[in-house]
Amino acid sequence: MKGSVLVVNSGSSSIKYQLVDPESGEALASGLIERIGEPDGVVTHRHGGVDREHRGPIADHGVGLQLAFAMFAEAGIELASAGIAAVGHRVVHGGEVFYRPTEITAEVLAEIARLSSLAPLHNPANVTGIESAMAALPDVPHVAVFDTAFFHTLPESARTYAIDSRIAREFGVRRYGFHGTSHEYVSGRVADVLGRDLASLHQIVLHLGNGASASAIAGGKAMDTSMGLTPLEGLVMGTRSGDIDPGIVMHLRRSAGLEVDDIDDLLNRRSGLKGLSGVNDFRELRALIEAGDEAASLAYRVYVHRLRKYIGAYMVTLGRLDAITFTAGVGENAAEVRADALAGLEGFGIEVDAERNAARGREARVISTDASTVAVLVVPTNEELAIARAAREFER
Ligand code: AMP
Repeated sequence: MKGSVLVVNSGSSSIKYQLVDPESGEALASGLIERIGEPDGVVTHRHGGVDREHRGPIADHGVGLQLAFAMFAEAGIELASAGIAAVGHRVVHGGEVFYRPTEITAEVLAEIARLSSLAPLHNPANVTGIESAMAALPDVPHVAVFDTAFFHTLPESARTYAIDSRIAREFGVRRYGFHGTSHEYVSGRVADVLGRDLASLHQIVLHLGNGASASAIAGGKAMDTSMGLTPLEGLVMGTRSGDIDPGIVMHLRRSAGLEVDDIDDLLNRRSGLKGLSGVNDFRELRALIEAGDEAASLAYRVYVHRLRKYIGAYMVTLGRLDAITFTAGVGENAAEVRADALAGLEGFGIEVDAERNAARGREARVISTDASTVAVLVVPTNEELAIARAAREFER
């Protein structure tokens, strides 16, 4: 356990955690604390191939972590004295303040809390998780790794919304981008897999999970990304609409009488694939399509149409393209999405090899033909490992 990093990802009513060896990337233990604050809480904990489960009320994040620590202890690991190098916390919004991994002090924590106006669902939960973990493990450095940090380098033209600039400044309205840890990790792996220097590569990364985002990266620096002020903009997602005409919000307010919270819920939780087809899980969507469901088929076509639009836009933004990479749940597993997203682009030097694309595997791999001038890859993302490596730098 010595030298390992505990990675904590806190949501509003859940905490995901993983104990990671930052050298090998091995997950030594992992778990999920769910339904915090409800009578039927659950902790599922996996260590050494053994699954443990605790069911019962979990009053708050602190109690949840204590239960998880007790499950470590059952497996023979006293976390507080196991020689952990650091705790890495995923923090969703770093605003304009944080753009690199940062050791958490009282001031840093207060600043993360202050940024809650930009991420009202996420940052308060991150703060609660951090406080609980710091109380439980007071003697190791706690490090915040921000989902927005990688997009700190966006050019002004890409990060600026064309609205009244005084209002934008006063309220922090600009494109921040999210999933940055994944886009950075995956784009670095692409350079390894291709045996090329990251600094020489122009690439598009498509993070397609339940949340989804695209980025254009030149020389390891982000040039554009599809998520904006919040993770609602851009691609069609499991339950989020992605891009819509902002006029729709006013129309729904005025004509349907919806309150702003209703519209927030509609666009974040009842839109995207779910809004169009009734399901947000891609495997269920595929089953519906196979059963001849028209709405599911339309949802899929809308999803792919939006994806292709961003690929086209980023090809032009980058001017020259070396690699397109698919990652996250859908990107890593749904071969048909990869094929359909890049179909008919041979004229642009993009040619997916049907057999390589169909082959399944957990390793990073190239799925383009040898003749394709643009390499197409599948690279499993590993945000926990990236966070663990960043946090380990603060080991005392
Ligand atoms: P993530 O947010 O990265 O965990 O991705 C979740 C999404 O990946 C869900 O829509 C899943 O349905 C999808 N997914 C996971 N495994 C597969 C699979 N084997 N085939 C298609 N989609 C998958």
